[in-house]
Amino acid sequence: MDTNWDVIVVGAGMAGLSAAQQLRAAGRRVLVLEKSRGIGGRMATRRTDAAQWDHGAQYFTARSAVFRRQVAQWLRAKVIARWQAPVAVWNGLQLKTSSPQQRFVGTPTMNAPLRQMAEQLEIQLSTQVTAIERVNGIWQVRADSACWLAPQIVIALPAPQAAALIPPVYSSHAMAAQTTMQPCWALMLTCEQALDLPFAGVFINEGPLSWIAHDSSKAARGGQNWLLHACAEWSQAHLEDSPEQVMALLGAELNRLLSQWGKTSVTWQNATPHRWRYARGNTEQTLTPSAQDGLVVAGDWLAGGRVEGAYLSGLAAANALLATP
Ligand SMILES: Cc1cc2nc3c(=O)[nH]c(=O)nc-3n(C[C@H](O)[C@H](O)[C@H](O)COP(=O)(O)OP(=O)(O)OC[C@H]3O[C@@H](n4cnc5c(N)ncnc54)[C@H](O)[C@@H]3O)c2cc1C
Repeated sequence: MDTNWDVIVVGAGMAGLSAAQQLRAAGRRVLVLEKSRGIGGRMATRRTDAAQWDHGAQYFTARSAVFRRQVAQWLRAKVIARWQAPVAVWNGLQLKTSSPQQRFVGTPTMNAPLRQMAEQLEIQLSTQVTAIERVNGIWQVRADSACWLAPQIVIALPAPQAAALIPPVYSSHAMAAQTTMQPCWALMLTCEQALDLPFAGVFINEGPLSWIAHDSSKAARGGQNWLLHACAEWSQAHLEDSPEQVMALLGAELNRLLSQWGKTSVTWQNATPHRWRYARGNTEQTLTPSAQDGLVVAGDWLAGGRVEGAYLSGLAAANALLATP
């Protein structure tokens, strides 16, 4: 096992891989450490033999010129596609068409663009970093009994997890510790019959749910797989509920909404809840961390709380390290 690197990146979500890609392109030897069995973080897809759902990020948009260039490359490589299905907004009284936006999804799964980014990278999966320490100008990065060394490190994690790892003497520790992230309960369902709705996604502005999507309407998917997200307030209030409780409450809420929309209740199978403890940061927040002793943070919570923000924060982190003599 090679233990000496130029840069170690902790976290293989969009922010970590964007940083790693940029650093590698600049000639750095980069190792990415990821605690899960796969890459992608919150750009996740749950797959069973019978169904699949994007249960984290639903789609992404591209506002900045830099991200639009990356999106164009992913489109050419066919690892993403446009999601052109109609999206609505429910305000408790009326369903209105949502303002038009160019929405993109990974194909065939949400993490497909990340898998493309990962092709050129050294990534060690199932490796939860438990401690980092700077000794004689070198970062020692520990996971279980293993230890890797590098003069530079990128911590590309949700803010509370970053705060737990970064030593308190660093300014990025305070930045992360002062950032709260809100949870989100997701519920994945397969409906037994086609749901005859005039939209494939709807933002909900009342009650426990915040979003319903016909996941199968996205490119390279199929079937009657639906995805529900609960709003942050409800998810926080029900954070420690059992999966069975969440399934029953959110399933009943779906049927309540369907009856308001003049549809009959549905029966479903494959109901699977998932709790995102750190789903979203403050979408208004933009922070510009600097590198300190070769350590820099990245993550969506620094740059607007979305896929695009995560990508841009990874680039910024890499550039901050590359600018360090
Ligand atoms: C329910 C939900 C809905 C969303 N909807 C949208 C949307 O529609 N559009 C949009 O643009 N964005 C959406 N987002 C936000 C989007 O998913 C994130 O902005 C983006 O994926 C964050 O990327 P990241 O790299 O900053 O963090 P993450 O994706 O969280 O990546 C962090 C990685 O670090 C790993 N990790 C954690 N701790 C350790 C450790 N100690 N050691 C090693 N690895 C570790 C994690 O396993 C993870 O892979 C949504 C998020 C959620 C949860």
